[in-house]
Amino acid sequence: MAEKKKVAIIGAGISGLTAGIYALKAGFDAEIYERNASVGGLCTGWYRKGSYIDGCIHWLTESNRGVLNKLWREIGAIDENTTIFHYDIYNQACMGDTTVNFYTDPAKLEKELLSFADGENDRRLVKKFVKGVRICKHNALTGGKPFHLWNAWNKFRFICKILPIIGVVRNYSKLSTREFVAQLKSPALKYTFSNTLVPDEYSLFSLMSTFGGLAHRNSGTPIGGSKAMVERIKDKFLSLGGKLTLRADVESIDIENEKACGLTTSDGQCIKADYVIAACDVHFTLDKLLKGKYHIEQIDDRDSNKKHHPTYSMMLLSYRTKKDLSKIVHNRYVKCPTFNVLGDDVDVIYLKHFGYDKTIMHDGYTIVQAIVTTTESMFDKLAAMPREEYAEFKKQLSETITDRIQQTEGDRYGELELLDVATPLTFTHYVNTYKGTFMTYMLTPNIKQMILRNDILPVKNLALANHWLMVPGGVPIAVMQGKFAAMTIAYNDKHQKD
Ligand SMILES: Cc1cc2nc3c(=O)[nH]c(=O)nc-3n(C[C@H](O)[C@H](O)[C@H](O)COP(=O)(O)OP(=O)(O)OC[C@H]3O[C@@H](n4cnc5c(N)ncnc54)[C@H](O)[C@@H]3O)c2cc1C
Repeated sequence: MAEKKKVAIIGAGISGLTAGIYALKAGFDAEIYERNASVGGLCTGWYRKGSYIDGCIHWLTESNRGVLNKLWREIGAIDENTTIFHYDIYNQACMGDTTVNFYTDPAKLEKELLSFADGENDRRLVKKFVKGVRICKHNALTGGKPFHLWNAWNKFRFICKILPIIGVVRNYSKLSTREFVAQLKSPALKYTFSNTLVPDEYSLFSLMSTFGGLAHRNSGTPIGGSKAMVERIKDKFLSLGGKLTLRADVESIDIENEKACGLTTSDGQCIKADYVIAACDVHFTLDKLLKGKYHIEQIDDRDSNKKHHPTYSMMLLSYRTKKDLSKIVHNRYVKCPTFNVLGDDVDVIYLKHFGYDKTIMHDGYTIVQAIVTTTESMFDKLAAMPREEYAEFKKQLSETITDRIQQTEGDRYGELELLDVATPLTFTHYVNTYKGTFMTYMLTPNIKQMILRNDILPVKNLALANHWLMVPGGVPIAVMQGKFAAMTIAYNDKHQKD
């Protein structure tokens, strides 16, 4: 029997693990090399004082049905034992004494939003928004095969899938949520739409589509959290015969005659492979693993035009509390007295707690997180700080945020004990992500969508697999691109001349 060809995969995030699973299914040997001591990449969780801190999934797109759901099940992210939690109120927008509930049920949402409308125009806009949410039963994602391998049948099926939402896409993908907010009169509605789970620079369609998933009970959260989910994917990969090497920091992709032939780790190990899949940040792959020898025009264009293609990240503070939070809403955007973060004024804190998931409570403690959105320039300032200054910054930021939570929320969360402070720099240190972002470029209206081929680089036997291949990134894109990278390699292996 002919020996199986080996695929070496760099990174055990969602895209790397998925690529590994589909490479094995396509008949290759697959080994993943991961720099950290555990799998998951940006989709992970960690422990402090025994308490589990989740660092990813707020909602899982197509958690219950659809093409992505098939993918989640194929890679083991969801199995017959996985319970999916669905929110009744996804988030609350709180401004002084005013609280607006963003219900996931469209009828309740409409009633709630209309009760804050100021005038006929507000009422009309609210109704349009909720109508869009109702229509967005499906999203525009597809998990079948790489776009460059689509045939007429694939295109036809995709058109059928998006046909019901085409009107919403046409009407609202060119309008940002910020522009929509400018049309509203009610301060409460303005605040509510400016502070949702999707940045307000994104198109209103993105917001409708996200709430569409929640409204149709198809964007729940897996009980057990992100870490348990990636461990299930890892188990699936290993059960199919995959090999995983942790703490393997890859330094370069080895290329001979414009053909990838393996990789070298920072401790000098050279690993031979027939194919290489780079399943880590595309900037890192280009700049470090390929030593700046290759460029991707679409990436260069975006990086040289940051006004239109910004990225964003967050400060993520995690606390624990003994108070029973199971009955209070899990996500809140709270208006607080203004404070300054690295030159930018901030007056809203996003608070999230995990009281819905008893399986991750430890010793009676529930985790509460405070999130402040950050810009690229904040990342640059953090990256330039000497170590002591950075430590002092984190200390002061935590004191300020803790103080603001107490001022605005009183005893809502009980006594909060700070366990962990993650900044955009933390994300970069952990997974080599560009500018600390945990997504990719923002999906602002009037920009051209970026979808990169997995084999875009002029190097044979090398494929890219990462959420950076398609704006705006996120777990669904990572899983799709992991599968597509393995399929691209399998296709090229069959059709390549040498
Ligand atoms: C707090 C937070 C909340 C989020 N919430 C959501 C959400 O609700 N919904 C959603 O869709 N997405 C969410 N995301 C984003 C999501 O986690 C990412 O889009 C996704 O996990 C990206 O997966 P990836 O495999 O493409 O990349 P990565 O996760 O970046 O994986 C790359 C892997 O490569 C490894 N690596 C890097 N360099 C090397 C090297 N030199 N050698 C070896 N290994 C290397 C890294 O350690 C990592 O494991 C969130 C992220 C964060 C941090």
